Amino acid sequence: MSQYDYDLFVIGAGSGGVRAARMSAGFGARVGVCEDMRVGGTCVMRGCVPKKLLVYGAHFHEEIEDAQAYGWSVDARSATIDWPRLIAKKDAELHRLEGVYHSILSNAGVELINGRGTLVDAHTIDVAGKTITADKILIATGGWPSMPKIPGIEHVITSNEALDIKDLPQRMIIVGGGYIAVEFAGVFNGAGVEVTEIIRAPNILRGFDEDVRNHLRTEMEKKGISIRTETVVDSIAKTANGYTVTANGGEALETDLVMYATGRTPKTENLGLENLGIELDRARAIVVDDHYQTSVDNIYAIGDVTNRVNLTPVALAEGMALANKLFNNTPRSVDYDFIPSAVFSHPPIGSVGFTEDQAREKGPIDVYVSTFKPMKHTLSGRDEKGLMKLIVEQKTDRVIGLHLVGPDTPEIAQGFAVAMKAGATKAHFDSTVGIHPTAAEELVTMREKTR
Ligand code: NDP
Repeated sequence: MSQYDYDLFVIGAGSGGVRAARMSAGFGARVGVCEDMRVGGTCVMRGCVPKKLLVYGAHFHEEIEDAQAYGWSVDARSATIDWPRLIAKKDAELHRLEGVYHSILSNAGVELINGRGTLVDAHTIDVAGKTITADKILIATGGWPSMPKIPGIEHVITSNEALDIKDLPQRMIIVGGGYIAVEFAGVFNGAGVEVTEIIRAPNILRGFDEDVRNHLRTEMEKKGISIRTETVVDSIAKTANGYTVTANGGEALETDLVMYATGRTPKTENLGLENLGIELDRARAIVVDDHYQTSVDNIYAIGDVTNRVNLTPVALAEGMALANKLFNNTPRSVDYDFIPSAVFSHPPIGSVGFTEDQAREKGPIDVYVSTFKPMKHTLSGRDEKGLMKLIVEQKTDRVIGLHLVGPDTPEIAQGFAVAMKAGATKAHFDSTVGIHPTAAEELVTMREKTR
């Protein structure tokens, strides 16, 4: 019997922490986990899941309009959304999922302790006044919205609160041009809010393929989202009716609500990391090696708190890899190449591999780009276009970049990600028979290079 209370104690019951905990318990380890918020973490409680439910909810108005063009007798002009009802339904679903997460942990034999965990020494954790000892400790505390410290920042909301707004504002300013900002711009625009997105850069979604950035921006603007580029917010002031956002040294913008989506910071504060000398990087993320080990031998970290690839499925993969290494004697590392990802903007993005700029740095490439009107909109008449782009490495003929914008593209990208991970070449794409009529068939029928 070990001298410790647990073989593994996990701080943080989000996607990564829960997966590592339950798999380790499945391999026979005695595992405990602590959480000071709701079990499920950012993705399930404050991110991917509630966000996507609101994305679905906010965009039905277009379906209702399109239905008319297909012969349905509905009056799209009188269709309105009961936002509080949608929020209540979303909350009920989160409550259900929270229960599922509790069951997952208890069925796996993992002990859950409510409260914030702080490291006392390399084998001791304080959880809300209770002292716990463990042979190995995993930090999986995730991240938290970060905002610039400007006057009036206390008036703004973040994605945490945006998911719970009961009364929709008439006008809203969203600051930031990343994943979260463009997704919420789509949600609130869809729900009928007048959305202005303010970005300091010349374009949205830095780091994404240029064609994707331009295409999505055009589509968002067509839907009525106003995107103000190269605009830096100086301050925010509360007024009788809302807020005044002052930007670029004097320009004043009136609005009813201000949301910031200017990145996320690893949650490493007040964890006792400094006492143990656990190394942090400049972004205050925990530094780990290829096997998620921190600078203290028996302490590990996975997921957003390490600020590497901040995506739920990556945290899950890291949690599984760590459990296998520690308690199943099968060290395996996560392969970070060709991780597909999606942005649930409106329309959404699906993407795998290198952007055109990144690929060019590796060597000569061929680029295939196609923009097209989705078949559904031939009858609906909706002015929305899709984008499909392939990047092929000349030396190997491998498809090393795939970037899509349009309905269902996250679903499409997932399948193509398997092929790309397996090393699919353009010749494989060309010899694959399309499924007709679909948007995805475009990807196997691109014959003419664009550049
Ligand atoms: P991102 O890092 O994606 O984007 C941050 C945005 O805020 C950028 O546009 C950046 O501008 C801007 N910004 C940063 N600091 C400032 C500042 N001081 N003033 C004004 N603008 C600023 O962060 P998000 O918050 O959107 O998302 C965080 C992470 O969450 C993502 O990186 C992603 O990993 C994850 N996520 C994934 C999703 C998905 O997979 N669908 C959905 C949501 C989140 P600039 O470009 O000029 O630097």
